[in-house]
Amino acid sequence: MSGAVATPGRAVRRTVCSAHGVDFGQVYDPGIAGQREALWLPVHCPQCENELRERLEADAELARLEADLVEETNRRAEADGGRDERIDAAVNADMAEQAMQLVAEFYARRRAEFEEFHAGQDWQRMYEQVKADRRAKILGR
Ligand SMILES: [Zn+2]
Repeated sequence: MSGAVATPGRAVRRTVCSAHGVDFGQVYDPGIAGQREALWLPVHCPQCENELRERLEADAELARLEADLVEETNRRAEADGGRDERIDAAVNADMAEQAMQLVAEFYARRRAEFEEFHAGQDWQRMYEQVKADRRAKILGR
């Protein structure tokens, strides 16, 4: 990109498209306050504009063919011998990953609860032992 040249009511500049390396001119559009941002036009180089137009035309053509696309996709899916195996492998991998996440979350979230429970159980076991020892002492007197 090179410097902008201001002319009365109109600023122009040359810039280079990063995708195509094409040098092209732009005119500054100051926009409208609160409605439209200022920008340099055209935004893209002629080649970019061409590719964009072709892509939009292709998208429009594909939109007209939607029913055909669905039908062909269904046909290919049915004819694809490796599809079930591929889906199975993906499902197994995803589920294994999520199961590991669930286990990790369970350990992280519930650890304090389990510690408290087992500390209580352990204390109660000790308490019963102390009580039994004292009972034996009393009976042995
Ligand atoms: Zn371009």
